[in-house]
Amino acid sequence: MQKTQKELLKVDNLKQYFPIKGGFFGRTVNHVKAVDDVSFTVHEGETLSIVGESGCGKSTTGRAILRLDEPTSGEIEFDGKNLLEFSKKEMRQNRKNMQVIFQDPYASINPRQTVRQILNEAMEIQNIGTKEERNDRIIELMETVGLGAHQADRFPHEFSGGQRQRIGIARALSVNPQLIVCDEAVSALDVSIQAQVINLLKKLQRDFDLTYLFISHDLGVVRHISDRVIVMYLGKIVEIADKKSLFTNAQHPYTKSLLSAIPSTNTEGKKERIILKGDVPSPIDPPTGCRFHTRCPFATEKCAKEVPTLRSEDYMEEGHMAACHYIEEIKSGEHQPTR
Ligand code: SF4
Repeated sequence: MQKTQKELLKVDNLKQYFPIKGGFFGRTVNHVKAVDDVSFTVHEGETLSIVGESGCGKSTTGRAILRLDEPTSGEIEFDGKNLLEFSKKEMRQNRKNMQVIFQDPYASINPRQTVRQILNEAMEIQNIGTKEERNDRIIELMETVGLGAHQADRFPHEFSGGQRQRIGIARALSVNPQLIVCDEAVSALDVSIQAQVINLLKKLQRDFDLTYLFISHDLGVVRHISDRVIVMYLGKIVEIADKKSLFTNAQHPYTKSLLSAIPSTNTEGKKERIILKGDVPSPIDPPTGCRFHTRCPFATEKCAKEVPTLRSEDYMEEGHMAACHYIEEIKSGEHQPTR
């Protein structure tokens, strides 16, 4: 359920194309269409997850929103402001409102700095507090993320993977952000540690009114943390829904195949695994029409020609949309697998 209707982040028609250089003069000969015309909204206080296989464009979407890569086109509105009109300086100042937690915190922290120095630097860059106030805040942050204050003067290599991720979370929290982009933030952790970090993220969300854009390839993890879920395939959104609606009433054949791969619990009964044929096509030259048509069991000639738009049917919950020409027909059994 959405906790509030206030739109904190609004993404419209976002495109992220990366040029491919070639030939003698190193000219642009083609583009990787990593994100292609993606629109969605993140409400204040919710966790919106983006899920999909590797190469679907989910992390690229997160990076474009943070302007870690400059988007090719589109609009990104954060808390009523157009982010793409921000200068580099304004974007740096805005960083304190939009933080990121990466999969590998080790790659994004200076291994030669102690945790105290790492956290202090994050606050100092944003002109937060005096030295004494920052020191107090560091101790508070260490305790908030379940690390001891006595560990503040240790170096990152002295911590386990789960603890290092807690340092990443403490660093993100140190500047009091409104939005945190969690980019595969728990993917590298063991399952039991994953659960601890997810529970911590949920607790922090309640305590500090945080909004999360949670990017993951793992629907099992997404199920635990999300309020709403976006499913991406080859740079496009194929389905978006409230978590419950997505997990119990998925409409898009791709979403159904992803869900069928999650191991069943006893209460769910036995599920039939839908195995997709072939690999994800290249985003350099994506399939025409519905990008999923080369692997979709229900594909027709129309699918290869016409791009399906995100839409809803009467029986779907409010806000649940899927991009498929045959949502209703597949549901009713009128449209059967074609291959
Ligand atoms: Fe499959 Fe066609 Fe629907 Fe795409 S539009 S998901 S190819 S049935």
